[in-house]
Amino acid sequence: MGIFSKEVCIICEKDVGLSRTRIADGKCICPSCFKEAGFDKLNNITKPIKQMTVEDIRNAIIAQKVNKSDLDSFNPTKRIGNYVEFDDNNKKWLILSSILGKRNKSTVYEYSDIVDFELLEDGESVSSGGLGRALVGGALFGGAGAIVGGVTGKKKTTGICSSLKLKITLKNINNPVVYVNFIETDMKKNGTIYKNAYKMAHECLSVLELICNQQQPSSELTSQQANSSSAADEILKFKQLLDMGVLTPEEFEEKKKELLKI
Ligand SMILES: [Zn+2]
Repeated sequence: MGIFSKEVCIICEKDVGLSRTRIADGKCICPSCFKEAGFDKLNNITKPIKQMTVEDIRNAIIAQKVNKSDLDSFNPTKRIGNYVEFDDNNKKWLILSSILGKRNKSTVYEYSDIVDFELLEDGESVSSGGLGRALVGGALFGGAGAIVGGVTGKKKTTGICSSLKLKITLKNINNPVVYVNFIETDMKKNGTIYKNAYKMAHECLSVLELICNQQQPSSELTSQQANSSSAADEILKFKQLLDMGVLTPEEFEEKKKELLKI
């Protein structure tokens, strides 16, 4: 088909005009449907648009509408710098725009979307945690990181950090990883900007850690409770054996400690 031939948008059926976007099967969408699907925001393009089917576009438009209403009802209870906001009442969170700290173009995520998270400094893992995992790392200024860096990393010996970012893994097939960028250009490690960014990154880690702890499946709790009740039953049996004179008081104490894991 020639460039001047009339084509209609597969979504809204209006004339696509010249700035049409080609999708799968030679179909195309108009600029306003392109925007409505959120493709003007890079993080919403989960695969090449040329490969997207009509179904993909429709789903993207629905997701954008849902996100818009999530944004409208988003009411932050905690904000970390110009980086992240948390809405503890709705159990939602979002990453702010890195330039002005605005949220109008952010994607709203659920607390339960978080699988794990990792703080990366110049590509190296500084600290990590997640569902069912305890927070590891989290070295303080001049701590273990500085010693390791002195041996292995050239950048660390020069006292410059060029990238500090938090990688968050989500339960989302289309968009499984998001980043919070705290530092994106060379910063002196003894400078205020680095120290502030580092502090906020760690504050963010603490909040994510708390969220993940709250998200622990309840089945784990019930199995813990089941374990403790069966331990109590066992102790009761041994107490009977003690009373019957089968066990010595020492043997009973030992069994009790074993069962209570003390
Ligand atoms: Zn259209």
